[in-house]
Amino acid sequence: MFGFLKGMSVTLSQLPKKKVTLQYPDVRPEWPERFRGVHRFIPELCINCNQCARICPTDCISLGGERDANKKMRIDTFDINFDICILCDLCTEVCPTEAILMSDTFEMAAETRDSFYLDMNWLYENQLRYEQNHPERVQAATAGDDA
Ligand code: SF4
Ligand code: SF4
Repeated sequence: MFGFLKGMSVTLSQLPKKKVTLQYPDVRPEWPERFRGVHRFIPELCINCNQCARICPTDCISLGGERDANKKMRIDTFDINFDICILCDLCTEVCPTEAILMSDTFEMAAETRDSFYLDMNWLYENQLRYEQNHPERVQAATAGDDA
């Protein structure tokens, strides 16, 4: 009986406190800017330097491209295998042009492993999603680059 009353007193003492849980997925959390979800990618910034692929500890980035008529490096393919990506952030750290960045996209449940092999188009669409959801962050980053 004493144990029951003790337990109830703990429960009742929590009732007036502010809730920390959310009714996900109806109510979605606002992740911090440095949250490491899956990547976003800006093809026109990529100079095909291969640094991201070389530093990747799980070897999950594959990319390819060539020089265009103006001798500028152009990226043709950029794939990440999220089946083995550990979201360590190293690839974004070494990227000299910030062509690859982390996003707050994290809902990746799927029924087949192939679904985790995502290409440049998907990664660019994720960039567009991020721009739409966080215009203020993208604007601040652009302003920082211009400074
Ligand atoms: S986050 Fe880490 S594991 Fe994933 S692609 Fe980048 S370097 Fe590789
Ligand atoms: S994403 Fe960045 S690090 Fe990777 S190849 Fe392109 S420019 Fe180089």
